[in-house]
Amino acid sequence: MKQVLDFCSLDEVERKIFLEDTWCDKCSEADLGMINPELYIEDARKFISGNCAVCGTKCISEIVVKIVD
Ligand SMILES: [Zn+2]
Repeated sequence: MKQVLDFCSLDEVERKIFLEDTWCDKCSEADLGMINPELYIEDARKFISGNCAVCGTKCISEIVVKIVD
């Protein structure tokens, strides 16, 4: 089950990180940037999907949240 979250609910720093820390399979390059971001939770894991800012290919990255004790 997929639960879509509001990308704008993230703070500015997080948004910047997620939009810049990307990997594109088609370009075979990291950190190209992402457009049309969508944030969602699936199987209790958080993902961000969007389109590569260079070629437009759909890319998805998992958000790994660091747990602070
Ligand atoms: Zn690309």
